[in-house]
Amino acid sequence: MIYTWADHHIFTVQGGATLFGVDHGSLFSIDETTQELLSRLGGKLSLNLAEESGADREILEGLRDARLLVPEGVKQKARPVDIEIGSVPLTTMVLEVAQECNLRCTYCYAEGGTYGKQANNMDTGTARAAVRQLIEGSRDQDRVTLVLFGGEPLLNMAAVRAAVDEAEIMSQLTGKKVFISLTTNASLLDSEIIDFIHQHRIAVAISLDGPADVQDANRPDAVGGGSYSRIVGQLDGLLKGASAAVAARVTLVPEQWSRIEEVFFHLMDLGFHEVGIAPVSPIRPELLPNAEHEERLLEGFSSLARVFVAAAKTGRILPLSNLIDLLARLHMGQTKSVSCGAGYGYLAVDVEGKFYLCHRLVGEESFCVGNLSGGPDAEKIGGIMKTITCGKEEMCGSCWARTLCSGGCHYENHLREKLLGIHKGSSCSFIRRWFQLGIEVYAEMKNAGLDEMLKKLEKRVKC
Ligand code: SF4
Ligand code: SF4
Repeated sequence: MIYTWADHHIFTVQGGATLFGVDHGSLFSIDETTQELLSRLGGKLSLNLAEESGADREILEGLRDARLLVPEGVKQKARPVDIEIGSVPLTTMVLEVAQECNLRCTYCYAEGGTYGKQANNMDTGTARAAVRQLIEGSRDQDRVTLVLFGGEPLLNMAAVRAAVDEAEIMSQLTGKKVFISLTTNASLLDSEIIDFIHQHRIAVAISLDGPADVQDANRPDAVGGGSYSRIVGQLDGLLKGASAAVAARVTLVPEQWSRIEEVFFHLMDLGFHEVGIAPVSPIRPELLPNAEHEERLLEGFSSLARVFVAAAKTGRILPLSNLIDLLARLHMGQTKSVSCGAGYGYLAVDVEGKFYLCHRLVGEESFCVGNLSGGPDAEKIGGIMKTITCGKEEMCGSCWARTLCSGGCHYENHLREKLLGIHKGSSCSFIRRWFQLGIEVYAEMKNAGLDEMLKKLEKRVKC
């Protein structure tokens, strides 16, 4: 049989080499002989294994078994995979219970929590109806996720309580597990709300950007006062007796990217179970990073990655969720045919019960995809997906990171390409370097025999 090479990419890690099989997201450590063979035969478009010498044939057969050599003419995985939207069950719903906020974060994509509209709250009937749609839309899935979001959701505890109550009722009626999480700025937490969170096993993601000077600069209240001390004052109570994870969700502006190590360790010391760090979305041109900022950010992540590996060697998992999620995906060989679940099982619901492709696109009428009375509009979702992926095939089709990235965040792309007028692919080099860092860390952990630790990360992400 005649074979051809499947798309692959080779990384050098600690003097050795790791091969990434793009279509299946597979990773192999390769020895010098295999490297030499790949540099000799890697450019050959077709190979007849029977004609190769014995030593080469043995290696080539191993590569074939690892799906890096595929029969010539067999169609390799095409991207994006055609998925019929109407066939995808709903598994995650984000409820915008309050489209208002008591903070005035400098980088807010939701225009002070209102998403460009009049400040408004979801009524309890809408909250309950949305939860019922989530359960009904989940069809045969036995687990769903309900995210209580805003604005600031704690400004509307009536809807939060109604949604949680409905979720528990529906869970009992159907036997489905409803995982509930709350994303909050935490400035309105008090002992009563904390008891409610503990009692209902709600996972909490707190938007907290690091030490007081960073947090207060990024996330002032409506009169310009800081928010750090108010939030940190409630943390002990929340963490003590927490029955689900309490995570810090960090957003840093480019000038703060050189401080990510300090920010991470500060939040870890405060006792958060997870810390996720995100570069700000450039909602204004001033928030766009330059090459120097990106360099500092990657250096910060690389440095944290080194500490992560060193801790892993002593049996500890550093709670850096960015890296944990990526390592777990690499370990599972998980590839993506779409960049995220938006529209494919994931929807956001605004205060009026309108569906949007994702929580960040709420208020953008061109991304409105139905409502609670009519249900999700599969045709419109399909049309939007076609438009936003148009022209991507060529750019992404030849990118080695395509099965990890799959085109990037729709919201970020919309922001950069449509609102800021930046060309497609402006963040690709950064994205690829981030995945490369993950692959290098993964290879280093494998080489150090940390398979058990990688399995633990996988479980942590699956939970
Ligand atoms: S890094 Fe860029 S080219 Fe590669 S898959 Fe992502 S969006 Fe496409
Ligand atoms: S579009 Fe972007 S922000 Fe929205 S769910 Fe997807 S990755 Fe997240």
